[in-house]
Amino acid sequence: MLIKGVVFRLDTDLPSEAKYLLEDFRLAVNNAVRAGIQARVTSRNALNRIAYKDLCQEHPRMYAKHLVSAFEVAGGVIKNYRRRVRKGVACRIPYVKRLMMKAENQAYKLDRESGIIDLPIRAGCHVKLKLVVSQYHRKYLGDTALSLGSLTLLPDRVIIAFRKGAPAPYTPASVLSLDTNERSLDGVFVDSHSEGAVPVKAEFPDVAIIQQRHHDRRRRLQKKKAHDRRTSRRLCRREGTRERHRVEYRLHQVADAVLSFAEGKKSAVVLEDLTGIRYKRGKDMNRRLSLWPRRKLHQIIEYKAQWKGIPVVKVDPSYSSRKCPVCGRIQDSRMGTEFVCDCGWHLDRHINASLNLLQTAISNGMAGGLRFDPGAFQHDVMMILYEPAMAARSEPNGTSCDCEVT
Ligand SMILES: [Zn+2]
Repeated sequence: MLIKGVVFRLDTDLPSEAKYLLEDFRLAVNNAVRAGIQARVTSRNALNRIAYKDLCQEHPRMYAKHLVSAFEVAGGVIKNYRRRVRKGVACRIPYVKRLMMKAENQAYKLDRESGIIDLPIRAGCHVKLKLVVSQYHRKYLGDTALSLGSLTLLPDRVIIAFRKGAPAPYTPASVLSLDTNERSLDGVFVDSHSEGAVPVKAEFPDVAIIQQRHHDRRRRLQKKKAHDRRTSRRLCRREGTRERHRVEYRLHQVADAVLSFAEGKKSAVVLEDLTGIRYKRGKDMNRRLSLWPRRKLHQIIEYKAQWKGIPVVKVDPSYSSRKCPVCGRIQDSRMGTEFVCDCGWHLDRHINASLNLLQTAISNGMAGGLRFDPGAFQHDVMMILYEPAMAARSEPNGTSCDCEVT
């Protein structure tokens, strides 16, 4: 089952009954957290058993189903707390500060046509919440294959979970093999009809720039606020959140562009398996070559592909940057932008790596019976799947199948 959370803004201010409900819910969660920690339980059912009666008395005005989902939220909080304790991190008994509430799908009604939520507060008292519905939201509301999951209510917005069964991936007619680098995805597109192979590129140079900029800013903040640890920490955290938002926005754009291309060509996507890769410890090195955006990009690609039924294959990247795809020789170093082999083969080193990933996928039988001959490689053509100029700011709606031949 795949779940996609979609954020909606509220069209009007939250009615006061709903505000009280949020506060009640937070109180119930915090009470359940304390009860759960004391009794050493985390599951919703166990919490239900030990705390339901007490909380029913304490919150006589709350709809019983909301109380049960308060146990679920509390269970999550306790699990996080336990994980921290197990790791030996010093922490206090958790207290939920943020106003929020969660409702199970039976505990609310959504009119998918008008975007109006009917939320019960207590017996005989319901509130209606009007959502702002854009074209993006319509896509989810109008899709009857999606069922509604839980609803999360926050003071200024609503998050609705849409669920669907994972569609079976199609049988690939071509392969898009991608090597993931700090500033770009470089790869090769192989079509079973034309038997040719074309290098492809999706560039995101601004991700590294953003990371660098925010890193510098954090350094400056730490120096400037050295006398005030609390402020420094708060500002740094804010800086980190901003960085994450800005980077993730770009990664989503890249993933969308790559996947809409793959979907149009009925390609399987080959990626390197990044799990288990570690760089040598060293503060500066760790940061500059931070794997995080690359892993995040893979996560986004895999998730979106699953949602659309695009097959994704992950292969072991060992030697992919040092091997010659023609004669199979493994080189000692991987310096320089060009991969040059004694047998006469030479190619951009990133694209060469993607050829090796492709060959691994083919030899493992993961590319749907597709074959590839390095001799058919077209060096002179480069397909750009994505570049920053295609970003929303300069080109609205610029993400749908942007394949230009340059
Ligand atoms: Zn060679």
